[in-house]
Amino acid sequence: MSATKTKRFTKDFTLQEPIGDQAIEKALAILKSGKLHRYNVDPGEKGEAALLEEEFAAYMGKKYCLACASCGSAMYLALKSAGVQSGDKVLCNAYTLAPVPGAIENAGATIELVDIVDDYTIDLNDLEKKAAIPDAKWFMLSHMRGHITDMDRLMDICTTHGLVLIEDCAHTMGATWDGKKSGAFGKVACFSTQTYKHMNSGEGGLLVTDDPELIARAIIYSGSYMLYERHASRPGMEVFETIKTMVPNYSCRMDNLRAAILRPQLRDLDVQCRRWNERYRILERGLNLIDGITCPRRDPRENYVGSSIQFSLTGQDEATIREFLAACLNRGVELKWFGDKEPVGFTSTYESWRYFGQLPHLANTKRILAVMCDMRIPLTFTEDDCRLILEIIHEVSATVLK
Ligand SMILES: *Cc1c(COP(=O)(O)O)cnc(C)c1O
Repeated sequence: MSATKTKRFTKDFTLQEPIGDQAIEKALAILKSGKLHRYNVDPGEKGEAALLEEEFAAYMGKKYCLACASCGSAMYLALKSAGVQSGDKVLCNAYTLAPVPGAIENAGATIELVDIVDDYTIDLNDLEKKAAIPDAKWFMLSHMRGHITDMDRLMDICTTHGLVLIEDCAHTMGATWDGKKSGAFGKVACFSTQTYKHMNSGEGGLLVTDDPELIARAIIYSGSYMLYERHASRPGMEVFETIKTMVPNYSCRMDNLRAAILRPQLRDLDVQCRRWNERYRILERGLNLIDGITCPRRDPRENYVGSSIQFSLTGQDEATIREFLAACLNRGVELKWFGDKEPVGFTSTYESWRYFGQLPHLANTKRILAVMCDMRIPLTFTEDDCRLILEIIHEVSATVLK
């Protein structure tokens, strides 16, 4: 390769944009007040956590929201509050992130993995088959890396088989399916506000539902110390009466500091989602033009948020993929790979969840993950940055891919 061609990319793939001035001012005011705990409010005062819950519920068009310590803890509370009992079976797509099976295990349930299809979404035929298992009652759907399946057909399957849907929307905050918000389909849905998701409070989770008893249980589970009256996004006090001594305290609350950082970000969320998609579309178009690389087909009804991009190196063997990744990294382009036998960073295959014991052989999931690459698209990247990344991947592909 000639010297003029070896351009390098030098930006950091994990660098998000700074927290805005408004959020910083609010955070400083809370720090100065010392009132960081969500229940440390004056009589009748709505704290930042309570306000965030009201605003996120309104954004989602849902009745109730609970702010939690993380999305993982929100998923755990969602399962428990929906009624999952120890030993119950929870269906879940096999392409997801470690905190999802972790929440299922934490709830004492067993996992029934469902295969995926070539566009990285759940295999609805396999779901239909597994939904028909007599003791299949719960379904944790992870919209992994923001890929949304045909929600119309999925909801039909859930209705037909009496499956209770719990949505993991860690990568679909701000996304819609056929005009309806991702997270508005399930009985309960969970979102992450961890640094690498669509709003950034370091750690944090949000749970939404329309079910008054479910939210009452979730509030008590989250550790309300019987101060649930201070929630603004809650049903009437009478709903808590029969529940309050039957539900333990798992202490998974969000604090006012993080909520204060998130409230201004929520107001900007839709704008940020559009900015992600401008970058995603440049990368998607460019990657699909490169021989040997394919981005998944996306349904026109899916209005996704392209905060990361995935593509397949179909037909390439493990050694070639490793060489491709190393050559990209050598020029500053950090890609992740879902095909590694060992869990690395934010990727893992379902085979690494060995604590569940024997897991099934899912031929399609294995085949698809074996060649799937993954790249973050932080908003600190400009559209020109995306073009430079494409140029580098293009050049590496031409020399490395078979
Ligand atoms: C990040 C993530 C989670 C969990 O979020 P935390 O807030 O880190 O617990 C769950 N599901 C998916 C798909 C994620 O990417």
